[in-house]
Amino acid sequence: MEKLFQQLPSVDKLLKTTQGQQLNEQFGHSAMVRVCRELLQQARQQIKFLQKLPHFCVDEQHFLQQVAVQLRDSQQVKIQVVHNLTGTVLHTNLGRALWAETAQQAGLNAMRNNVALEYDLQAGQRSHRDNYISELLCQLTGAEAACVVNNNAAAVLLMLAGLAKDKQVVISRGELIEIGGAFRIPDIMQQAGCYLREVGTTNRTHLSDYANAINEDTALLMKVHSSNYQICGFTAAVAEQQLVALAQQYALPVISDLGSGALIDLRQYGLPYEPTVQEKIAQGVDLVSFSGDKLLGGVQAGIIVGKKALIERLQTHPLKRVLRCDKVILAGLEATLRLYLQPEKLLEKLPILTKLTLSVSELTAQAEQLKVRLENKLNSDYSLQIKPSSAQIGSGSQPMARIPSVAVTIQGQHLTHLMARFKALPEPIIGRLEQDKIWLDLRSVADLQELLKTVEKL
Ligand SMILES: *Cc1c(COP(=O)(O)O)cnc(C)c1O
Repeated sequence: MEKLFQQLPSVDKLLKTTQGQQLNEQFGHSAMVRVCRELLQQARQQIKFLQKLPHFCVDEQHFLQQVAVQLRDSQQVKIQVVHNLTGTVLHTNLGRALWAETAQQAGLNAMRNNVALEYDLQAGQRSHRDNYISELLCQLTGAEAACVVNNNAAAVLLMLAGLAKDKQVVISRGELIEIGGAFRIPDIMQQAGCYLREVGTTNRTHLSDYANAINEDTALLMKVHSSNYQICGFTAAVAEQQLVALAQQYALPVISDLGSGALIDLRQYGLPYEPTVQEKIAQGVDLVSFSGDKLLGGVQAGIIVGKKALIERLQTHPLKRVLRCDKVILAGLEATLRLYLQPEKLLEKLPILTKLTLSVSELTAQAEQLKVRLENKLNSDYSLQIKPSSAQIGSGSQPMARIPSVAVTIQGQHLTHLMARFKALPEPIIGRLEQDKIWLDLRSVADLQELLKTVEKL
C-alpha cells in the first residue's frame, strides 16, 4: 500500500510539466491546484479502501487529462438546453414559455447596457420601474394601474399582505388549491399574516356563503383559478360579477388569482377557453394577478392589474421592494406585451401561440423528419411509428384539455436504456414513457432543426 501512495504525483511536479503549465495558463492557478488536490485525495481514498491506483494515476499525462476534464466540466453550465418532447408545451420543470424574438433582443440590450429603468427621459428625473409596463398593461386590459413582481406566487403574497394583514380573507373551499412547489393558498395566507375564512364546500359554494361570512374583520373576498385541477359533476361556484356586487355593499375589494392569465380569447385559434384578464377587469374585480411565463408567453413575472388606489398601496408596501423585477425581465416583459398591440401578428411572433396552433399536418411532416433521423441511428431492436398524440398547454392551464398532436413512438426491449441515452446527449431529449413506448411529441419542440442535429449525435 505504501508503494502505491508513493506512486502518486505531487501537485508541484504536476504544475511543472508542459501540460500542467498549459492548464495553469488556461484555467488559473487556484482552480488548477484545487482540482489536483481533489483528485489526489480521491486517489488516496481508493488506495486505502481498494488497495489499487485509480485509472487516471498510471502516469502524469493521464492524471493531467483527468484534471483537464474536471476543469472544463466546472465551466459547463448545468442549466443546459434540452429538447422538450413531453407534449406539455408550458413545462414548469423545463422553464415554461420561450421568449419571443423581440423580447430576447430587449433582454439582451438591457443586459449589455444601462437602461432608463427608473428614469423619465422627458422630465429628466427619477421615475418608477413599473411605469412603462403599467401603461401598456392598462391599455391592454382596461385596468387603471399595474404592478409587476417576481412571479405570480409573489403577486398573491403581495396582494394579501398589502391589503389584508391581520384581517380576514373570504374564499371558497373549492379554491383552496395547491399549485405545486409548496404554493398552497392557505400557507400563502398565513405568510401574508391574514386569516383564512373558508366558505362553502369542496364542490359547491353559493353567494350566501360569502355573504354570511362577511364581518367587521373582513378585508377582502378572494377568487382563485383552480388551475391544475377540475371538479366535475354536482358543482357550483360564484361568478365574479355576483361577488363584486356583494362586496360593493360592504365596500370590500374582490381580488382574483387568475393563474395563467390569457390576454386574448384562445377560442379564436380553436384552443380551449381560458378566462382573460380583460374579462375579470370588466366584471369589476378590483385586483387580478397572473403569471408572465404561462399563457402570456413571456418572462417569469407576476403581474397585478386593477384599481389605482389599491395598486398604489401595493407599490409602496415594503414587500414590493423585496419582490421587484430586474431590468432584463422588465425589458423582456415590455417587449412581449407590445406584441399584443398587434393581435393579428401574435400567432407568428409569440412562440407559445405558434406552438399551440401548429396544425396536425405540419406536425406530421416534422414527425416524419424526426423518425427518419432516429431510424438511421437506432438498430433493428427498435420499431418506430408516427402516431396521433395529445399534447397539453401545461402550467395549470386547462388541465383536462388535450390538444391534438403527433408523436414518434419507439417500441423495443430496452426503452429505459434508450431514454437514458436520449438524456445523455449534449442537448438531452426528454420524451415520455407510456403504454410500453417512448412518445416523442412534436408539439412542444422549441427548435426542430436543433433537435434533428442533436439526434445525429445519438
Ligand atoms: C401558476 C399559478 C400560480 C403561481 O404562479 P407562478 O408564476 O408560478 O409563481 C399561482 N396561482 C395560480 C392559480 C396558478 O395557476
